[in-house]
Amino acid sequence: MANQERLRQELIRLDGRGYKAFQDIQGSYDFADFTLIIDRVQGDPFASPSNIRVKVPMTVAKFPEELYQTKSREIALRDYLTRYFDVCTQKFKEKRGTGNSGLISILPVGQEVLERNSVIINSEFVEVRFVVGLPAGGRRILGYQAIEMLCDQVPQLVNLTLKYPRLDAKKIQRHVEIVEDADWLRQELANKGLVAFVADGAILPRRSGVDDRPLAESAIAFQSPESLKVAFDRPNQGSITGMGIPAGVTLIVGGGYHGKSTLLRAIEVGIYNHIPDDGREFVITNPDAVKIRAEDGRSVANVDISPFISNLPQDRSTTNFSTTNASGSTSQAANIMEALEAGSKVLLIDEDTAATNFMIRDHRMQALIAKNQEPITPFIDKVRQLYADYNVSSILVMGGSGDYFEVADTVIAMQNFQPQDVTEKAKEIANQYANQRQAEGGEKFGQIMPRIPIRETIDPSYRQKQVRLKVRDVDEMVFGGEDIDLSAVEQIVDKAQSRAIAEAMVYAVRQYANKTATLPEILDRIMADIELRGLDILTRFPQGDLAFFRKFELAAAINRLRSLNCQKSEKALNSPK
Ligand code: ADP
Ligand code: MG
Repeated sequence: MANQERLRQELIRLDGRGYKAFQDIQGSYDFADFTLIIDRVQGDPFASPSNIRVKVPMTVAKFPEELYQTKSREIALRDYLTRYFDVCTQKFKEKRGTGNSGLISILPVGQEVLERNSVIINSEFVEVRFVVGLPAGGRRILGYQAIEMLCDQVPQLVNLTLKYPRLDAKKIQRHVEIVEDADWLRQELANKGLVAFVADGAILPRRSGVDDRPLAESAIAFQSPESLKVAFDRPNQGSITGMGIPAGVTLIVGGGYHGKSTLLRAIEVGIYNHIPDDGREFVITNPDAVKIRAEDGRSVANVDISPFISNLPQDRSTTNFSTTNASGSTSQAANIMEALEAGSKVLLIDEDTAATNFMIRDHRMQALIAKNQEPITPFIDKVRQLYADYNVSSILVMGGSGDYFEVADTVIAMQNFQPQDVTEKAKEIANQYANQRQAEGGEKFGQIMPRIPIRETIDPSYRQKQVRLKVRDVDEMVFGGEDIDLSAVEQIVDKAQSRAIAEAMVYAVRQYANKTATLPEILDRIMADIELRGLDILTRFPQGDLAFFRKFELAAAINRLRSLNCQKSEKALNSPK
């Protein structure tokens, strides 16, 4: 391996030459107490910056093993180091020439603690992946500026961020303990018959629609009603109390602007862990909970939506339903059936983003429009069967229809941002004012038929390119010749997740899509591979810009491919009961 001095000499030699000559520095360099690896050199000063790694032996980095000995702790520590590295690179923000010359930057992160491949840690070493804008004046190499960046700033960054004795031990300890406790709680939910938990004292509202940090001054802390209160004894931080949402059907009701959607949103992202002081560190949700919404305009490929929709005009099939432009109700039905196909155990629905005619059909409308003239079986007539037949719970924000009182196990009213348990009152009202509507859902929920995606219809190529992937934003990706709109997939929270999902789609095609594999089988195989071997398996070299995603969001991206076509499988998914 070349050493630091070699790199320095090389950069002096390259000074003033055309930018392309930078390619020569690709490789590994032995620095005094770490290794610098240049994996990819950008083609010009405006191209996406070059990919760099530093690898510090644990004998130098000296992180105590207890900080990364469990999976939860390891992910938390990696998250902490990504954040701290990011903070420290701000010190070196300096424009050094054209394009992105001078840039040093690591994966940007939000409020969630996700497994990311920006930092890798094990008993041998800690490794950080980041990007560097190799400096140029015009298109000529600025060799001495590059020396300053790679041979001076990078070692400083290593010193500042990757040597444990220099770091804030208390802060790191708290970070890993909170994340580990949150993971522990998520595992405990089922033992207590719960699908979600919202800790007393939690701060749910956010600063704004574009700022995910906690609302600062006027936020009212969450306080569980007595009747729903549960307590846990966390392994690290001891006892905690809060509201437990039991399995079954739960309604969140209350006046407009009283905090219903804010509560549901916190539950939606409670599938992820959050950083200390986020306010939602201990809002914990069943990891298989999926947000469902209407999404008119999306394409749907070969989904059996017959539990909800049948007898469409023109005899259109609903057991093998495809469309390039779904309506509000058919899109919501497809979203549910796809979530069930992928194995969801909890559905989360907010009236704000649901199709009204999918959610309810009241007595008067039943009298006016006969059942055989209405293709939609509303969710209200299926929600109990989902729980009875498949053990799938629902949490619904429903301020507008008391018809749901009959089908709910738990009714929570939000009043001035505080929850009340109004289950008994709602049941009394349901008895007092008899509901004349007819249940239209039949006896059983119906079959969930997994599909076999046809490999050729998931095609990442475009013109001469074998693979064309671009993630423009958290909700917008280019896959082959198509744009995939993920804006309705609300549990993707990070652009690094979208990037990983795009790569995982290519991986799916290469590794597992064949003539017999069903979508749930493909998803499970990919997730098992990532679990075992990490996110790095998705890319050619360790880019450090990927974050963990769930199979549900991967499925969601595949399902939104307009080219997708599927075959039916023979066997329906088994109901657990
Ligand atoms: P709803 O869905 O009941 O109409 P929202 O959840 O949209 O109400 O909340 C309305 C507003 O109140 C939002 O701007 C939200 O940020 C704010 N809000 C929600 N919960 C709280 C809280 N606990 N403390 C302070 N403000 C809150
Ligand atoms: Mg709302």
